[in-house]
Amino acid sequence: MAIAVYPGTFDPITCGHMDIIERAVPLVDKLIVGVYENLAKRPLFSLEERVRLVEEAVKDLPNVEVKAFKGLTVDFIHQVGGKIMIRGLRANSDFEREFEMALMTRKLAPDIEPLCLMTSSQYQFLSSTLIKEVAELGGCLEGMVPDHVAAALREKFSTSTKLATGKGKR
Ligand code: ADP
Repeated sequence: MAIAVYPGTFDPITCGHMDIIERAVPLVDKLIVGVYENLAKRPLFSLEERVRLVEEAVKDLPNVEVKAFKGLTVDFIHQVGGKIMIRGLRANSDFEREFEMALMTRKLAPDIEPLCLMTSSQYQFLSSTLIKEVAELGGCLEGMVPDHVAAALREKFSTSTKLATGKGKR
């Protein structure tokens, strides 16, 4: 049985990630989306929030599970019995980083095959970082993130604005 893991920070999950997930599903028996704690990136959403947002996004897809993990990605992939690591590739900048990661994965765990899927052209410039910037400035996120993610972003930024301005305090 081919079990694949798609690891990432997913802060938050975007339509670019969803495109990779939907295209990976038919290639494998089971796809596990691994949500990496990644405190180094100082995520906007907590690990639990990110997992919930991914779970909601993939709830209608067959053979997809969502799990949180900490530590080395290859250890997590071994724990869940995975043999394939799915990654998404956008522009040249991703290529360098993903190439490095793939080589390191092969070195640490030769039994895991890194598999990179090329982004669809409409998501070429879509990143969680850009989405957060647009959301913070109140821009429209239609077609870039699932609706529940757009709602969670609005909620997050309205809460932080209220905290900063003191509005909403009793
Ligand atoms: P990480 O912190 O591991 O890069 P991300 O959540 O940013 O986590 O991304 C997870 C994976 O999804 C990475 O392989 C990244 O290149 C890929 N990815 C992110 N955005 C897109 C997109 N718009 N199209 C295709 N792949 C993407």
